[in-house]
Amino acid sequence: MSVLIFLDHADGHVKKASLEALCYGSAIAGQMGIPAEAVLLGTVSEDLGALGKYGVSKVYQVAKEELNQLDAQVYTATLGEVARQAGAKLIVFSNNLSGKAVAPRLSARLKAALASGAVALPSLNGGFAVKKNVFSGKAFENISLNTDIKIISLNPNSYPISTRDAKAELVQLNISPVKGRIKQVSVTKAAGEVPLTEADIVVSGGRGLKGPENWGMIETLAKLLHAATACSRPVADAHWRPHNEHVGQTGIAIAPNLYIAIGISGAIQHLAGVNRSKVIVVINKDPEAPFFKAADYGIVGDAFEVVPKLIEAVKKLKGIS
Ligand SMILES: Cc1cc2nc3c(=O)[nH]c(=O)nc-3n(C[C@H](O)[C@H](O)[C@H](O)COP(=O)(O)OP(=O)(O)OC[C@H]3O[C@@H](n4cnc5c(N)ncnc54)[C@H](O)[C@@H]3O)c2cc1C
Repeated sequence: MSVLIFLDHADGHVKKASLEALCYGSAIAGQMGIPAEAVLLGTVSEDLGALGKYGVSKVYQVAKEELNQLDAQVYTATLGEVARQAGAKLIVFSNNLSGKAVAPRLSARLKAALASGAVALPSLNGGFAVKKNVFSGKAFENISLNTDIKIISLNPNSYPISTRDAKAELVQLNISPVKGRIKQVSVTKAAGEVPLTEADIVVSGGRGLKGPENWGMIETLAKLLHAATACSRPVADAHWRPHNEHVGQTGIAIAPNLYIAIGISGAIQHLAGVNRSKVIVVINKDPEAPFFKAADYGIVGDAFEVVPKLIEAVKKLKGIS
């Protein structure tokens, strides 16, 4: 019996969201008194044994090249087999794009109850109760998982990463993946330097910026902070920015440590995609802008005056002239 944690990876590295899932799954394994183990499909360039420092005793790998690209159908079948071989009682995903694609399919395959969007460790007293986000992060719900095998997907940025001094055993599994029904023909990566869903810091602009020609200062600030750029929906609809930057109810939902909203009113549909951010900073010239109600820090001012000053301050802090 074990808790099995799925490791999502890109460009040869395990994603940060999966490190959070590792620590979360390891903590649950401690609660259940069973080992925490991880599984990686495909190949990465890092030492998988080193993941022991996040609490897992074993890392299973199915090191097949064809698994380096996510195919939800193939991943589901392969993970089902790994879960069977590992005797997994609980399977933990990050609730990122891969987790959202694979966890529900695996739940159907294993007839396992699924809690998607968990935000805290489960309570094991008299059942298996999981606290999760609902209504685009506007409310919490407690649900109990009542099947023998359970699946939880953890919201990114909901559980801290901690390390200890330990190594994990690496176990190669010889599982032949099923043949996929789709074939990746080509990939065109988004232009941003930091992927939006992985970013710790996001600098986001709205219609208050007046036009695409004014995004230079947003990009400069983002670059200085090693942040990703995002935008409100009307900005993407007007083609000021690409649609893959649109955050909100109908765009991407993100949960960075810091979300800086510039010239965005804070409509409920926008907040639905960003209100899980740890710290929200709002820059808006209208003191009545609804976004200020959701902000941790607010600057009432003209973005065209505030942002250049912010850029100068960050440069000074970093010793850049
Ligand atoms: C079904 C549905 C789904 C939707 N989904 C989404 C979604 O996923 N994401 C999303 O973002 N929206 C979504 N919307 C749209 C949403 O309701 C808002 O219309 C939108 O978020 C507003 O974008 P905005 O804040 O950039 O623009 P505006 O509402 O025009 O706000 C601009 C803000 O900039 C401020 N401003 C103006 N000039 C300056 C300046 N010089 N300096 C500083 N501040 C300034 C203004 O005070 C204002 O607060 C959806 C709407 C519907 C009906």
